Amino acid sequence: MRTRQMWMMVFFVIVVLVAVAVTARKNFVPQQQINFSDLVQSVEKGDVTSLSIKGSWVEGTLADGTRFHTTGPANSDFYLEQFAKKGVVPDFQEVGDSLWVSVLMNGLVVIVVIALFMVFMRQLQMGSGKAMSFGKSKAKLLSESGKRITFADVAGCDEAKDELDEIIQFLKDPRKFTRLGGRIPKGVLLMGSPGTGKTLLARAVAGEAGVPFFSISGSEFVEMFVGVGASRVRDLFEQGKKQAPCIIFIDEIDAVGRHRGNGMGGGHDEREQTLNQLLVEMDGFDSAEGVILVAATNRPDVLDPALLRPGRFDRRVVVPQPDVRGRLGILQVHARRTPLDEQVDLERIARGTPGFSGAELESLINEAALFAARTNKRKIEQEDLEMAKDKVAMGSERRSLVLSDAMKKRTAYHEAGHAIVARLTPESDPVNKITIIPRTRSLGATHFLPIEDRWTWSVSQLKARITCGMGGRAAEEIIYGDFDTGASDDIKKATQLAHGMVCEYGMSEAMGPIAWGERRDEGYLGRDAGRSRDYSEATAQRIDEEVKKFVGFGYENARTILVQNLHILHKVAQSLIEKESLDAGEFERLVLQMNPVYPEPTSNVA
Ligand code: ADP
Ligand code: MG
Ligand code: ZN
Repeated sequence: MRTRQMWMMVFFVIVVLVAVAVTARKNFVPQQQINFSDLVQSVEKGDVTSLSIKGSWVEGTLADGTRFHTTGPANSDFYLEQFAKKGVVPDFQEVGDSLWVSVLMNGLVVIVVIALFMVFMRQLQMGSGKAMSFGKSKAKLLSESGKRITFADVAGCDEAKDELDEIIQFLKDPRKFTRLGGRIPKGVLLMGSPGTGKTLLARAVAGEAGVPFFSISGSEFVEMFVGVGASRVRDLFEQGKKQAPCIIFIDEIDAVGRHRGNGMGGGHDEREQTLNQLLVEMDGFDSAEGVILVAATNRPDVLDPALLRPGRFDRRVVVPQPDVRGRLGILQVHARRTPLDEQVDLERIARGTPGFSGAELESLINEAALFAARTNKRKIEQEDLEMAKDKVAMGSERRSLVLSDAMKKRTAYHEAGHAIVARLTPESDPVNKITIIPRTRSLGATHFLPIEDRWTWSVSQLKARITCGMGGRAAEEIIYGDFDTGASDDIKKATQLAHGMVCEYGMSEAMGPIAWGERRDEGYLGRDAGRSRDYSEATAQRIDEEVKKFVGFGYENARTILVQNLHILHKVAQSLIEKESLDAGEFERLVLQMNPVYPEPTSNVA
């Protein structure tokens, strides 16, 4: 309350100042307005004692002390010629606001600012019910009072749940862990597209562990006033430490955690200060105290690297787009509250909604309930769900990514091709996961799991990579007899690899162990500025031929493997169409069931 009184004082001082300014201005205005011709006469008579000219504004004093003002010509020559002769040398002033006018204007601005400020404060006080809670964090404490969310409410991200289980065990009994000297991660970063359930998952972790959950959104840190965000961060951690064990959750952390120094002006400083404070606080607490920081983002790529350093958000959990099974699970979770007709086949809906996020599936169920209500049904029927599906798909920005069945099949064969070639090429990394769930940039993906971190690659490993890369296109060619643009990225990567083998690593026998073309790095930009060609046109042609040979061998190998294992290709593609993603175990089982034909060892030699 004291601060408020202080502001009132400041307010009154300003009012008084302005009042003084206004009266002073009044005194200053000369009493008499006269015509310019009167002035000329007075000058002739020698009555004028002083004169000052500012643009066309002329003011002065007469011998009897009367002050006057008038307007006259704005050029100074006139006065110098006509008046100076009579001994009246005017005082020329620069055109501009007079001192008092500027005081007045400033006063007004200050008053407006202060008035706004006070209105703002008032609102803030009413909002929080507390006086002056400026630097306090707005973190909302969700405790048992609210509906407790558990893992049962989250479907379709079992891997993420598994990874978070360790955190839950720790929060349930921190001492059990620290007694054994275990090191607990300080920060967990949940990454995933919007609507995949990151916020939900974080709340579920708190619910599972039965600990308090402080939640704040990154955008709430970034306020108008410099320093507010930083003090909110401080307060947030203070609150958290008092309530340990607990979870502090920062949603949409990219709002504060953006890479520093890539913005310009405008509130940038404030964000940077807030981020710095966040880093300081993270370093300053020990997870052994029982506070776990969880953050969520859908833009991990823009985060400041400092946030991702060990000891900060060093545990990263991907919350994926749900696959068929995940979608079914999510539909079931949300259908719990709505009466479904016995005839309803949720699995059908799940199969027909590739690319839908959890949030979209939730709204699908809601829309279906609305459709059913509109026709006075007592239960939701299949047709309601189908209509809701179309409605949500239309409203969704990613509707172009909802694959047609034909596209889905093609993508399935493409990815199956990569995976099978990789599985049957001895030098390749094992396949970790295959998916045809559409992503923002690609229709499907085959993920590899390197056995070890590699810094150097042998010739045969590189050849194996080119071969695997060609697997997708080869599969499409075998099944459809043509290709589409989907494989362009694969081709680019394979070509780059082959080019590197020939020109950088000296792996081509024909070209010899020579670095063809110096790579010019523009160090400060960290970009490859291309190669300077210090070889002849003929050499360039030979290089191109060698590159073509490497890629061509890869393609032929991939094709051979797939033709010999066509039955597996069909099987895996079929399974992908059904399930949309296969993990390492499922894939391996499929391949082994089908008696794979391994390629001749020699076929891997170019
Ligand atoms: P994010 O934070 O990733 O953008 P949210 O957690 O806010 O997504 O999800 C929005 C809503 O969508 C949730 O409240 C929930 O009802 C629903 N939802 C999203 N993902 C799931 C999921 N995996 N399981 C169940 N419901 C989900
Ligand atoms: Mg969210
Ligand atoms: Zn591909």
